[in-house]
Amino acid sequence: MKTNHYPKNFENIPSPCYVLEEEKFEKNLKLLNFIQQQSGAKILLALKGYALWKSFGIAKEYLSGVTASGIYEAKLGFETFGKEITTFSPAYKEREMQELVKISRHIIFNSFLQWQTYKPLIDKENLQRLTKKRPIIEVGLRVNPQYSEVTPKIYNPCVEGSRLGITPKEFQKGFKKYGLSGISGLHFHTHCEQNSDALERTLQHFIKHFKDFISQMRWINFGGGHHITRKDYNVELLLKILKKFKKKFKTQIYLEPGEAIGWESGFLIGSVIDIIHNGIDIAILDISAAAHMPDCLEMPYRPMVRNSFNAQVKKGKNLKLKGEKPYCYRFGGPTCLAGDIIGDYSFEKPLKIGDKIIFEDMIHYTIVKNNTFNGVPLPSIGIIHKNGEFELFKTFNYEDYKHRNS
Ligand SMILES: *Cc1c(COP(=O)(O)O)cnc(C)c1O
Repeated sequence: MKTNHYPKNFENIPSPCYVLEEEKFEKNLKLLNFIQQQSGAKILLALKGYALWKSFGIAKEYLSGVTASGIYEAKLGFETFGKEITTFSPAYKEREMQELVKISRHIIFNSFLQWQTYKPLIDKENLQRLTKKRPIIEVGLRVNPQYSEVTPKIYNPCVEGSRLGITPKEFQKGFKKYGLSGISGLHFHTHCEQNSDALERTLQHFIKHFKDFISQMRWINFGGGHHITRKDYNVELLLKILKKFKKKFKTQIYLEPGEAIGWESGFLIGSVIDIIHNGIDIAILDISAAAHMPDCLEMPYRPMVRNSFNAQVKKGKNLKLKGEKPYCYRFGGPTCLAGDIIGDYSFEKPLKIGDKIIFEDMIHYTIVKNNTFNGVPLPSIGIIHKNGEFELFKTFNYEDYKHRNS
């Protein structure tokens, strides 16, 4: 494998390790900031997809705040990012809400009942904030516009019977019973890895169902799933949509992407530990799909490997791999899960034990989801700075595994 485009102290990177590339990360942030400046919309970082907080010093120069899925993410955002903290959870517990009212700027509820339950707590906190001249908590409701183009179903919040968001019918019922006094915003989240044309179509449904309420709101949150930093994303169309909506309804728009923040901004590096043969050549790595990049199995998808080429199973009686290049391998993890298979790849030269393998685009939805299944060690976390220097942020050890198990 060629090593000439690795950073100059590449040898210092432990194996395995998630490595954020500052230059690529900042490029994403700059594009997102450009959209804020051009459209007047505010963009929040969704911690669910990207919580590598040692990089927040850079991120908070460009973004307006964070969006949290609950108490822990809200606390992390408050401690490490600051600015605006938006929190949405399908349901809050009382203890969580007691803490959330101290640190959230927007609290978004998934039902009228939850809003009513915590309204006294929020009103009380807001009285105190007013006397201290702190910005008050603004309350929003998540709605279900009953339109989403997302596949597979596990990622689609508008499937029949979905628990995510208040349906138009339930919204009318809640409105009749409780009114909307005290509600500042509406929120929908119905996208996943989508382009701006999907947003355009979704807005037609959102407007159709909620038009009587939108202009009364101080803000509308369009959720995440906008794949803004992907090469083929239509930024021009997004700007057009945002400007038109703002002009029509005179309201502040929020976007809260997670994936687009960390998109193609770094890699996961690991090593070949053994190479075995069972009809095909199988390289066993110190990286596990199940433990370190679970979306590869969940979505599923085949991650890109630097300096590798395609390989496919060849039709026939015996299992065989046929590749674009002569040396084909199936990559598997060090767990007992038979399906802990990362994918099939081919190379110009044979792999050797100890070779480094680089999985591209492994920053979002990896570190936040990884686990210690089989007691497999967690990858370290580091950054390659703009000057090419590698800095190690964090390593994990046996104690991390032990203390998660009681
Ligand atoms: C998951 C999620 C996001 C971020 O979605 P991405 O696909 O990572 O952009 C934003 N808001 C809510 C409510 C979410 O559930």
